[in-house]
Amino acid sequence: MTEQLFTLGLIGYPLSHSRSPLLHNAALRALGLPGKYHLFPVRNAAGISYLCQQIRQERIQGLNVTIPHKRTILSFLDETKPVAEVVGAVNTLYLQDGKIVGDNTDAEGFLQDILKAFGRDFIHRQGRGLILGAGGAARAAAYALLQNGWNVTVAVRRSSQGNQFRSDFSSHGLVVDIIDFSKDHLVRNNPDLLINATPVGMTPNIADSPWPADLPYPNKAIIYDLIYNPPKTKFLARAKMEGKQTRNGSGMLIIQAEASFNRWTGLQSPPGVMQKAFYRFEHNLQRSEV
Ligand code: NAP
Repeated sequence: MTEQLFTLGLIGYPLSHSRSPLLHNAALRALGLPGKYHLFPVRNAAGISYLCQQIRQERIQGLNVTIPHKRTILSFLDETKPVAEVVGAVNTLYLQDGKIVGDNTDAEGFLQDILKAFGRDFIHRQGRGLILGAGGAARAAAYALLQNGWNVTVAVRRSSQGNQFRSDFSSHGLVVDIIDFSKDHLVRNNPDLLINATPVGMTPNIADSPWPADLPYPNKAIIYDLIYNPPKTKFLARAKMEGKQTRNGSGMLIIQAEASFNRWTGLQSPPGVMQKAFYRFEHNLQRSEV
């Protein structure tokens, strides 16, 4: 019997900073599975269509999808999982019963990471979340909180994006409050969880923060940044200095990757394997930058 070869990968553009090959190749190695996770830097529909054909012909077993294709990919699918449908973004593709299926593991990654970091009681409190930004990651975080009975407010800089967010969620019976991304509106919120779902503060723009410098953080909020590069953004560094509980996006990244790996292979990445690969890489990166 020939052993199954796993050809996995990531579609997006640009991709040079992706940590996904590191995580998935570590899991393949740890399980002794032959195969590799590749980067497919694809800019246009022709490239996406070609890779979808490769899935259909079972030459590729699974793909992740990232910027700028998380929403455009929807038109290439035979089926969309409910979570990807509500979130309106796909980050994982695979073939199921002959159909190309689009799934989203970001919401699961976010929720499981919150549970891991702050415990079940924190989630069961059904508190208030304030999300900065209204892109795919913000939608995944909003979905995860709403599913657990939280109230969710989303701060947007473009009202058209906010209206679309609200109407997409409301067509699935989910209610979000949309506010303008301005000091006047941010100050009126007192969330239990403040989440940065914008790219503001990400490498190389590490001196930036999405939270206004002259606005105090909400007094009872845990501060969560979806960014993992750098590990301590300006947004988190200030919160830490003010004695707040903080969390960066590395836990979410690892858990969403484990969930995608499971969809593709039917197997669990052995506990800690992706995490170790991630932290070894970050540690070496920091040493090389000293
Ligand atoms: P996206 O779809 O491009 O959305 C980004 C959102 O932030 C948009 O609403 C954008 O508004 C807004 N934004 C950008 N710059 C802003 C600014 N200066 N002020 C206010 N709003 C601003 O990106 P995404 O996929 O949601 O990703 C967002 C962040 O989450 C990225 O840093 C990404 O790396 C991170 N992420 C982490 C994980 C993880 O596993 N840890 C997973 C997914 C994403 P406009 O549309 O007007 O630009």
